[in-house]
Amino acid sequence: MHEASIAKSIVNTVETLALKHGFQSFENLEVLIGVGELAGVTFEELEPFLKRLKPGWVFKSKIIPAICHCSCGFKGKPKVLLKAHDLVVYECPECGAIPELKQGGDVTILSIGQFSPQA
Ligand SMILES: [Zn+2]
Repeated sequence: MHEASIAKSIVNTVETLALKHGFQSFENLEVLIGVGELAGVTFEELEPFLKRLKPGWVFKSKIIPAICHCSCGFKGKPKVLLKAHDLVVYECPECGAIPELKQGGDVTILSIGQFSPQA
């Protein structure tokens, strides 16, 4: 289960960050997740797994646009040839080579915060 392992690593990373930032507990965390355009997984697919792991947390997401650098000098949006579950194929729109993806290829944690529970 791809989503399950991504969700688990997100939660682990958030807890590590929370400790680093001196949070008193792991309760009521709000997490902003950046999901790359070419990440091969969507927030909608991840959310149920995240919610199962941490029912008390609030998860929000933001799409991170894909940006690639190619050896031909091209910098920008790659041409996506195929986007399916867990599989993304892209090429440089200028020369057709497989460029290096600089951004938008993975799932990252953009920010974490803690909200006050409603009494
Ligand atoms: Zn190129």
